[in-house]
Amino acid sequence: MFDVKGKVVAITGASSGIGEAVARLLAAAGAKVVLGARRADRLEIIAADIRKKQGEADLQVIDVSKREDLERLVKKAQDRFGRLDVLISNAGLMPLSPLDQLKVEEWDRMIDVNIKGVLYGIAAALPVFRKQNSGHFINVSSVAGHRIGPNGAVYSATKFAVRAISEGLRQEAGDKIRVTIISPGAVESELASTISDPAVKKRVEDYRKMAIPAEAIASAMAYAIGQPGNVDVNEILIRPTAQPS
Ligand code: NDP
Repeated sequence: MFDVKGKVVAITGASSGIGEAVARLLAAAGAKVVLGARRADRLEIIAADIRKKQGEADLQVIDVSKREDLERLVKKAQDRFGRLDVLISNAGLMPLSPLDQLKVEEWDRMIDVNIKGVLYGIAAALPVFRKQNSGHFINVSSVAGHRIGPNGAVYSATKFAVRAISEGLRQEAGDKIRVTIISPGAVESELASTISDPAVKKRVEDYRKMAIPAEAIASAMAYAIGQPGNVDVNEILIRPTAQPS
């Protein structure tokens, strides 16, 4: 269905949810994966599990809000596997709340991780892709990068930003570097765990009952990676069939 064999793929936010699912799927299909996130214990378990199944995996503990950590992730891929073919900028958080609550630290955190994390990934990988004359950015936005709802102003802003940055990058990238935006709807993961307002959290958890497995998003990423080099899948929007908006 898709050919990702031998590709070197670095993934941010690989310790749970979509990042973990895509790491496992790509490694099972013969890609060499480098897992990045803050929780070292989780990364070690996932990497060990991949290796046990004859897959190739390494890890780098990173905080995507630090530019040098993205450089470390890219360097780990180069040192361990000789190159970097794909950077999946997937790390993100979603502490939804009404603006009236002035949860300014949470706004800052979303901007630092969801936007700056993606930019730092571009800063780390773009020079490497230029030198190799090939490379593929996969940036994770959201359905919330297409529409805005109450409690989601800042989160949506960060995901609109991911789409704007990715489209700008695509237009500048030239004919050797591919850029794909992945925009999921409700997906099973730990994403709601950072919501600090109990009422909002309950509403979001109820809404997310129709969430689809993270593997659905992982397959979409594998599809984009597996296309021939002259085919750039620009964006995939994937919702649960039961998600109205
Ligand atoms: P999870 O909460 O399960 O995964 C988020 C990942 O991001 C974790 O691996 C976490 O690892 C990592 N992360 C968070 N902060 C940082 C940081 N500062 N540095 C490095 N890694 C970090 O949720 P999902 O899998 O759902 O989220 C993945 C992406 O998908 C996010 O960008 C999210 O916005 C997007 N998305 C998800 C949807 C959904 O319904 N699940 C819908 C639309 C978009 P650790 O804590 O170990 O650092």
